[in-house]
Amino acid sequence: MNAKLRKIRHLALDMDGTIYKGSTLFDFTKDFLRSAREMGISYTFLTNNPSKSMVDYLAKLKDLGIEAEASQLYTSTQCTIEYLLENYPTAKRIFPLGTPSMCEEFKKAGYEICEDSHLDEPDVVIVAFDMTLSFERLGRAGWWIKKGKPFIATNPDYVCPTDQPTMWVDCGSLCACLQAATGRAPDAILGKPHPNMLRGILQRHSLHPSELAMVGDRTYTDMAMAQCAGAVGVLVLTGETTAEEAAVYSPKPDFILPSIKELGQKLAEAKQQLAPV
Ligand SMILES: [Mg+2]
Repeated sequence: MNAKLRKIRHLALDMDGTIYKGSTLFDFTKDFLRSAREMGISYTFLTNNPSKSMVDYLAKLKDLGIEAEASQLYTSTQCTIEYLLENYPTAKRIFPLGTPSMCEEFKKAGYEICEDSHLDEPDVVIVAFDMTLSFERLGRAGWWIKKGKPFIATNPDYVCPTDQPTMWVDCGSLCACLQAATGRAPDAILGKPHPNMLRGILQRHSLHPSELAMVGDRTYTDMAMAQCAGAVGVLVLTGETTAEEAAVYSPKPDFILPSIKELGQKLAEAKQQLAPV
């Protein structure tokens, strides 16, 4: 198994459940990141949550004590923007169900945000994890989808984990609602496990898939995507998946570890075996 670890040059790190939980950084995360850097292994933080812009995510990481640059962050919003550029290159006007922070990201990328009006016609409808959702805008999204506009979802998650005494209804559930209302499923669902989430990282760092480890706490997003992209899958048990669930999940991830702390130790061992004696 060390042969697989020895090849690793880059880590795609899921965030919630992998490097922190809610607003609490795991006590081993900083040491893990430092030792990765010392071993010459770079990393990108990856999230399906499109409700925060790059600037807001970098601020959140900084608050937790992690210094990162914009190039070290990849969110489902960026994945959606890259998907639009490639598949709908003439689209300029979008009708989003998303937070103001997400809309800012689209505006920065050159998109115009349509008003909630039947006279303000979009090229594409973007459905996201909209923590500012209104009944009117939900209806307007349905109206445009019914009219045949491309229907793009930023991420498949039905629920976003929260430690608050409520439920955060996520993008997948909003899409299910719109599908029931319009009879149309999304034309594309970005975010993990869509392989485009890793494709951007592979291209950016000129990596072969075997040189990239996807590290996360969820089987059906993080590990499914590693599998799809041919990357090394590292499942950690600090988030959603229990040891019992991990043991029976198929296809089996390349590594199942208690946390990223053990991953750091294994990477160091694998690298040491490489060092000349
Ligand atoms: Mg996670």
